[in-house]
Order: sequence, then structure tokens, then C-alpha cells
Amino acid sequence: LAKKLQGALDKLKSKGKLSEKDVDVAMREVKLALLEADVNFRVVKKFVSTVKERSIGQEVMGSLTPAQQVIKIVNEELTNLMGGTESKIEFSSNPPTIIMMCGLQGAGKTTTAGKLGGLLKKKGKFPLLVACDIYRPAAIKQLEVVGSKLEIPVFSMGDKQNPVNIAKAAIEHGKKNGNDVIIIDTAGRLHIDEELMEELENIKQEVNPNEILLVVDAMTGQDAVTVAENFNEKLNVNGVVLTKLDGDARGGAALSIRAVTDKPIKFVGMGEKLDQLETFHPDRMASRILGMGDVLSLIEKAQANFDAEKAMELEKKLRSQEFTFDDYLEQLQQVKSLGSMNEILQMIPGMNSKQLKNLNVDEKEFVRVEAIIQSMTKEERKNPSMIDGSRRKRIARGSGTTIQDVNKMLKQFKETRKMIKKIGDMEKTMKKKGRFS
Ligand code: GDP
Ligand code: MG
Repeated sequence: LAKKLQGALDKLKSKGKLSEKDVDVAMREVKLALLEADVNFRVVKKFVSTVKERSIGQEVMGSLTPAQQVIKIVNEELTNLMGGTESKIEFSSNPPTIIMMCGLQGAGKTTTAGKLGGLLKKKGKFPLLVACDIYRPAAIKQLEVVGSKLEIPVFSMGDKQNPVNIAKAAIEHGKKNGNDVIIIDTAGRLHIDEELMEELENIKQEVNPNEILLVVDAMTGQDAVTVAENFNEKLNVNGVVLTKLDGDARGGAALSIRAVTDKPIKFVGMGEKLDQLETFHPDRMASRILGMGDVLSLIEKAQANFDAEKAMELEKKLRSQEFTFDDYLEQLQQVKSLGSMNEILQMIPGMNSKQLKNLNVDEKEFVRVEAIIQSMTKEERKNPSMIDGSRRKRIARGSGTTIQDVNKMLKQFKETRKMIKKIGDMEKTMKKKGRFS
């Protein structure tokens, strides 16, 4: 615990403005991470210069190191690049809402049509799936299987009708049957071609969908960006669904797609199962692209919990020897509010579960110390020297610990105080000698 307090002080001392060197050091890592994540080179270059501009000269927050601060800015900018907040399906004020899926073959249109239907059904909608892929063998059957698993009706007219007619008939059917959402599954090709685009444009013109969702496979990286650009040019899509993010894909496509097409990613596919479709969160994707585990959420947690003003106040108290058990408790609770120690350690990049086991963080120790302090009276907390033998016995009983526990804690507290005094004195002498500013 003494170490933790010292750590907190160290952080306070590192306060200052971000220098160009701080920024460069952090940006080198970021650049590599972005390129590794398959983000378009031009996007990376522009991005890096934006972040540099924004970072240099900024105040470093009390709870962050300069590198962390730059990463935080990077995270914010990445999030902004991807649209900032999540974007949802726009439902028609005059149902049914018509959603049309498009994309290359194998991107995940049929699966996603089903997943989306499932998601909306859970929200109380009555979706209808429409089989407009008449070319791929067994495509209709595939959608029917998906529909029956989810208990969502599927409209099909076999493979002899033209897709435009099927779509029109499906909408009539849906209106009659009270379906408030109609999801049209369309055909794909291995490559973008005129015929595919023309068919999609025809469907679009005839049924006038509320949402055209482009489905792209995240695993294809930069190709996904080209595909998105082409489809968007022809169809002016409303949003993108990025599938197969559960695989190796680092998610760089997400950033480039948004930057290139300026269309929001609305959902991400996280697996083959029909419930594995999630709303897209730009901030989470930003962390993923940085490839730093959940380091960013850790930083944010620290930031949210570490009240800068309180920290200054505490520092003053520490220096002037007024440090009481109340302060000690507050400090403890701040550390604890970051989450369980093991949870925090897991967020550190490169930490594997084996290393975590070896560390063996004693959570119970936290609870014990807290209980002991809470069993003290107000006076005792302010003036620990008054805690004599009988008071120790009472505190141990009140906190469900032993006298040994209480003794150990009191000793630790005394040492912490001493250490703080030493640091304070050291800084005073250094200031006098003019070496500490
Ligand atoms: P379509 O040709 O665009 O209709 O693509 P399909 O819906 O038939 O999907 C092609 C393959 O990708 C199938 O094997 C799906 O199970 C798989 N797939 C779709 N979405 C995902 C996803 O988010 N994650 C994973 N791992 N597989 C997916
Ligand atoms: Mg399909």
C-alpha cells in the first residue's frame, strides 16, 4: 500500500505539458499499430499529423503519464474518425421499414439478414425476411433455415422470378401480414460487376428502401474498403455491417471504410451464430485497432476516478503530516474503485493469465484494511496515537479481524506517514538548492 501511495505521488510530479518528444514516442507505436491493423496508409499519415497537432503543448492530466495522454488523444481521434457515437437503424414513421442487404458473395448478407431480424424481433418488431438471391444454389433454402431457427417468416418465390418482382410482392405480403420490418437478402458476386449493380439499383428504385446496409467482410482488409467505395458510389448506402470481426481481423477496415465512404458502420458480426451481431461502438473499435487490450478503458477509468483537486489536497496533507486514517481510507477506495486488482492487471497489454496467477494479488487485504479503518471512531482516525491496547481490541472485534491484523495495519500506516514525511523533506531541500522546480 505504501508503494501505491508513492506511485500516486510520482504521478503528480510528472505533471506538465506534452512535449514534442513525448508525442513522437507515443506516435511511433500508434503508427505501427495502425498499419499492422491494415489501416490505409494515407489515412494513417493524415491521422498522425492531426493527433500531433492536437497533442503538443497540452496539459498532462494528473493520473496519466505523457504517453498515456497521447494514447488517450489517439483514442478520441480514432473514435471521431469512426463517427464518434453509435448509429442506429432509422425506422420508417410509416411502417414497414424496408432494409436491403447488399455486398459481395460470402460477405455474410444472408447470415446478417437473419441476425438483424433476430435482434429486431427481440426489440418487439415483426420482421419478414425476403429471399432475393435466385442465383446461388440453395441460397433460398439457406435463408429459410435461418428464418426457422429464429422463428421469423421468410418470403420466397423460388428462383424463376426476377428479384425486383420478388421484393415488390414481399412488401405487399408483409403489409398484409402486419410485418413492420422487411429485410431483403440479395445476391452477391465474387467481384463487383455491372450486372450485380444494375440489379441492386433496380431493386432500390422499385422498393425505395429506408436502409441499404452494405455487408463487408472485415477479414479482407483493404479490399473491403475498395468494395465499400464501389457499392456506395452506385447505391449511396446508409450504413455498413462489418462481419467476421471475431476472426483475425484487427479492424483496420472499420477505420478506412468510414474515412473513405463517410458512411457509418452500424453493426459488427462477431461469429457465425445467429445471435452474434452487435451494435458498432466506435470507441471500442478504436481500442481494438490500437491493439492494446483494454488499456484505454483502464486509462479512462483512472481518469474518471482520480479527482485532480482531491489529489492536490491530499498531497498538501501528506506534506504537512496531517495525513489521517480518513485520507488513507479515501485513497484506498480510489484504488478500489478502479475495479478489482486482478481486473486491472488483465487490462495491461502482454499480461497473460499465467503471469497473473504468479502475481497473486491479495484482494482480501484491501477489504481487511477498509474494515479496520471503518471500525475506528472519528477521533481515532484523526489521531492514531491514541489507539491503545483496549481500543485495538475493540477495533479488531468491530471489523471482524484479529488484534494482529490491527497492529500490522497501524504499523503500515506509521511507515507510510514516515515515508511521506521523508519525500516532503527531500523535496524541500532540493527546492532550496534550486534543483527542483
Ligand atoms: P452471403 O453470401 O453474403 O449471403 O454470406 P453468408 O451469409 O452465406 O455467409 C458466408 C459465410 O460467412 C457463412 O459460412 C457464415 O456463417 C459466415 N459468417 C457470416 N458472418 C460471420 C461472422 O460475423 N463471423 C464469422 N466467423 N462468420 C460469419
Ligand atoms: Mg447469401
